Amino acid sequence: MTNPLFTLPAVPGIPVRGEDATYPVGRIFCVGRNYAAHAAEMGIEVDRQTPFYFTKTPSAAVLSGASVPYPPGTDNFHYEMELALAIGAPVFRASKEQALGAVYAYGCALDMTRRDLQLAERAKQRPWDLGKDVENSAVFAPLTKAADFGVVANQRIHLAVNGDVKQDATLEELIWKVDEIICHLSRFYHLRPGDLILTGTPAGVGPVLAGDVITGGIDGLDPIALTLTDAK
Ligand code: MN
Repeated sequence: MTNPLFTLPAVPGIPVRGEDATYPVGRIFCVGRNYAAHAAEMGIEVDRQTPFYFTKTPSAAVLSGASVPYPPGTDNFHYEMELALAIGAPVFRASKEQALGAVYAYGCALDMTRRDLQLAERAKQRPWDLGKDVENSAVFAPLTKAADFGVVANQRIHLAVNGDVKQDATLEELIWKVDEIICHLSRFYHLRPGDLILTGTPAGVGPVLAGDVITGGIDGLDPIALTLTDAK
């Protein structure tokens, strides 16, 4: 074994309620347009034939409570409140039963987005990386083990900016359910511990500015918070 030329910055592990150890961030998969009302506000009809995904670089992960600079290259930086699930066992071509069994934990997450660049990329039929794979854009609150959370049903999912409620929906509105997402995604990836899946955002997305404080929650999970600071 040879030594590396240099050391990469460590990606923070995500705290887990009731555990001293943290959950390491492996890969970050995100489901697109998984709430009908959000798809409508984006001017797109929901594709009920198949889910689709984009990814975020693991180094884009930050923990709830962080203050992060307003990112470069955008004039329309948006919040997206999401349910995240954390994979806890290897799973490939999962059955529905195997899919739910592979969920280690759930948590609140933010999928921060350069909306102007995402829409420009979309219009030109280009990949969404500049819009979505933004530094510090995958925000994770502490996780709650699946057994402690229970079944994903009609829990409220909500987000506020500076205390004003912007997103308010229930997990019942998810088009592709947790087991369906894992069944589908595991046809293409050997999912494994460390893999996180953001399940999409409800309606009400909108911009934030430097100085804004984002807070969000899902019934039964630890809340999430993010503060935007001046651009660097
Ligand atoms: Mn999203």
